[in-house]
Amino acid sequence: MIDKEKIERAVTLLLEGIGEDVGREGLRETPGRIARMYEEIFAGLNQTPEPYLSKTFSVKDSGMVLEKDIVFYSTCEHHLLPFYGKAHIAYLPDGKVVGLSKLARTVEVYARRPQLQEQLTVQIADALMEYLQPKGVMVMVEAEHMCMTMRGVKKPGTQTVTLVTRGKFEEEKGLQEEFWRMMGR
Ligand code: ZN
Repeated sequence: MIDKEKIERAVTLLLEGIGEDVGREGLRETPGRIARMYEEIFAGLNQTPEPYLSKTFSVKDSGMVLEKDIVFYSTCEHHLLPFYGKAHIAYLPDGKVVGLSKLARTVEVYARRPQLQEQLTVQIADALMEYLQPKGVMVMVEAEHMCMTMRGVKKPGTQTVTLVTRGKFEEEKGLQEEFWRMMGR
């Protein structure tokens, strides 16, 4: 669980470390504010997608399901700076589908923790494979990383794209092509 008191102490130290006056008015409540914010943006650390993906509905002979443009905000675990963008999730049901909002919930569970985009993409795909047991899954994540745009190479607008395929999406090029067609690309 999140230890807010520890975060407050750490933020105070961090501010002192950069040479700030932690007693000045604008900063006085910052450690507490950050502790409360971290509780929210790292809430996924204490969650699994199980409550969202275990409630399924039966379908017969469904084609590919694509939920695109799922907006997410996450935090780069290397710099603790935000990265944010869109996730697109496709799966080929094997008799079971899940409510569409549950896919967005699943993205949130994995986005709300210190994260890497590659790992986020893999975790979403594997969660669907585990809980829904579909014939296949394809997940694409597109994101802008603040650690690339506000420091270092400073290339605003650069999108990092990650792609993971599982099951039939790995083997059948036709399914991947259908994914791109449904994405409108
Ligand atoms: Zn980073």
